[in-house]
Amino acid sequence: MLITGPPGSGKGTQAQRIAERLDITAISTGDMFRTHVMDETPLGVETKRYMDNGDFVPDSVTNAMVRDRLQHQDTSNGFLLDGYPRTTCQVDELDDILAANAHNLDVVLQLAADDEEIVRRLLGRARDEGRSDDNERVIRHRLELYREQTEAILALYDRRGLLVQVDGCGDIDQVTDSAMSGIETAKVRQGT
Ligand code: AMP
Repeated sequence: MLITGPPGSGKGTQAQRIAERLDITAISTGDMFRTHVMDETPLGVETKRYMDNGDFVPDSVTNAMVRDRLQHQDTSNGFLLDGYPRTTCQVDELDDILAANAHNLDVVLQLAADDEEIVRRLLGRARDEGRSDDNERVIRHRLELYREQTEAILALYDRRGLLVQVDGCGDIDQVTDSAMSGIETAKVRQGT
C-alpha cells in the first residue's frame, strides 16, 4: 500500500504504526534520502540541495532507489511506501516495478490536513528536531509542490478505486484507528 499526505500531516508516524499493525515493511523515501545525506554517500551529496530547498529529488534518482529497495526480501510479504510516488512519472515507474514483481496495490491512503495547521506543526518540528528543510519558506514550497503535483496523482488512484482519505488532524491513536478501518473497508471492497 501507499501512504501520502502533505508534509507535516503525520504520515511518517502513521506509516510506522500501520505497517506494524499489518506486519509489513514501511519504506520512507524521505528517510532513505536523509540517511544518505547523513552518511554523506554520493547519493546523499547529490540529493541534499534538493531536500534543503524543498524540491523533489529528480525522478530518475528516486525511481532507481525505490526499484532497488523493492527487490529486498523484506518486501515479499507486502510493504507500505511512505512518500512515493509523488509525480506521474513515479506512478508509471511504480506500476512497472509492481507488474514485474507480480504485486498489486491494495490501498492508497491519503492523510488530509489544513495548510495553516501544517505550517504550525512543521515550525514546531523544526525547533524540536532541527530539520534543515523545516523553515517557513521551504515548508510553503513543499506544500505547494504537494498540492500541485502529488494531489494530481491521487485522482488517478481514485479512478482505480484505491484511494482512502482520512483526516490527519485528530489525536494520533484516533488517526491510526480511522486509517485501519479505511484500509479494511478498501480491502473488503476489492476482495483482497
Ligand atoms: P518527506 O520526509 O517524505 O517529506 O521527504 C523529504 C524530502 O525528500 C522531500 O522534500 C524531497 O526533497 C525528498 N523526497 C522524498 N520522497 C521523494 C519522492 N518520491 N520524489 C522526490 N523527492 C522525494
